Amino acid sequence: MESNRYKKYDLHSHSIASDGELTPAELVGYAHSCGVEVLALTDHDVTDGYDEAAVEAHKLGLEFIAGVEISVTWGKHLLHIVGLNFDVENAALQAGLADLRQQRTGRAEEMANRLAKLGIEGALEGAQAYVNGPILSRTHFARFLFENGHVKTMQAAFDRYLGDGKKAYVASEWTSLAQAVEWITTAGGYAVIAHPARYKLSATKLRLLFDEFKQMGGAGLEVISGRQDIKVTKNMTDYAKKYELRASIGSDYHGPSQAWSNMGQMPPLPEACQPIWGLWQD
Ligand code: AMP
Ligand code: MN
Ligand code: MN
Ligand code: MN
Repeated sequence: MESNRYKKYDLHSHSIASDGELTPAELVGYAHSCGVEVLALTDHDVTDGYDEAAVEAHKLGLEFIAGVEISVTWGKHLLHIVGLNFDVENAALQAGLADLRQQRTGRAEEMANRLAKLGIEGALEGAQAYVNGPILSRTHFARFLFENGHVKTMQAAFDRYLGDGKKAYVASEWTSLAQAVEWITTAGGYAVIAHPARYKLSATKLRLLFDEFKQMGGAGLEVISGRQDIKVTKNMTDYAKKYELRASIGSDYHGPSQAWSNMGQMPPLPEACQPIWGLWQD
């Protein structure tokens, strides 16, 4: 029934199982306190937070959707593909995610080597000290650089060292777009392009991406990602219509210290959108 459309959805968030700051249970509690009614936990390349979050969501009467955010290499671009409402036990998906986590280990060593050459010693152990789950991410390196006074803000860690093309950036060959879509869909879920405006792709490239993604069986795109300009929302609404992709909405919340994204504060999807959740509710 249409009334579901107006529930408060947040289909993109992180816990300490990847690079978030709250435990899965804390995250669910916080989402609930912010008025979120349907939540997906979408940790990077891992679903380890699922069980704990699901138990807490059940206690609080919050609807909980399985999620993950998969690292993808598309041409020379790093993309994030969110998977929603899949079977977390699916063996092929879990094997794929395990491979991605393995790749993170080598990348982290290389990042630490580069930082050492720049005079910053102990970055690997330093970053690892902030890890609570099975993945080591650039966010953990950023925290190490920030807490040890190498940069004044977490953002500066990306701007100076860790961002694409910066001094300690290590390009990695993640999985392909087609493979990520296949893992998600064969696990019974729906693939969504996360924060499509954040890749700084030209309009031509973005159209190519939507076109390829749709042909591969991709289901949707994040029409609303966190706090974003209304112009971006309009633009993404138009793309979703044109490419017959469903619309998703997610805060990309990582925790209290990342003030650029909070929970429960996004506007609803524009009326012109076909919400992604229609695919598992219809
Ligand atoms: P990784 O998956 O290890 O490459 O790390 C990517 C994560 O770093 C993203 O999911 C964000 O949480 C964070 N991140 C990436 N770029 C920035 C940035 N410019 N400022 C702050 N955080 C960032
Ligand atoms: Mn992240
Ligand atoms: Mn992302
Ligand atoms: Mn994210």
